[in-house]
Amino acid sequence: MSELVCIICPRGCTLQVGREGDTFRVTGNSCKRGEAFAISEQTAPMRTLCTTVRTVFPEAPVLPVRLSAEIPKGQIFPVMEVIRAVTVDQPVDMGGVILKNVLGLGVDVVAASGLLRPADG
Ligand code: SF4
Repeated sequence: MSELVCIICPRGCTLQVGREGDTFRVTGNSCKRGEAFAISEQTAPMRTLCTTVRTVFPEAPVLPVRLSAEIPKGQIFPVMEVIRAVTVDQPVDMGGVILKNVLGLGVDVVAASGLLRPADG
């Protein structure tokens, strides 16, 4: 039996999860999403990532970015290495793709802000 904190919502339930034959027994969860999270953590933990990339624009030297979907937890640091090497040199809208299919994971790195978009007018 192991214990973990559910990160699906701000309530932060403390979950206990242990093997029961071919399945898992989860307690401490207040909803079904917590059970799914606990089982996923035992079998194939997934994470998302929010960070920043450098830009060439002095008025906005870094741009917030995020992943378009969750990736395996073990791929977070390799993806961070790829993101660290990026410098944005063109204005982008929020949601604009900065890196397509990063590391072949089927997930894009997208702009979480449109800060570099020139003002209208
Ligand atoms: S178990 Fe449900 S209520 Fe509790 S933190 Fe997870 S998602 Fe939120």
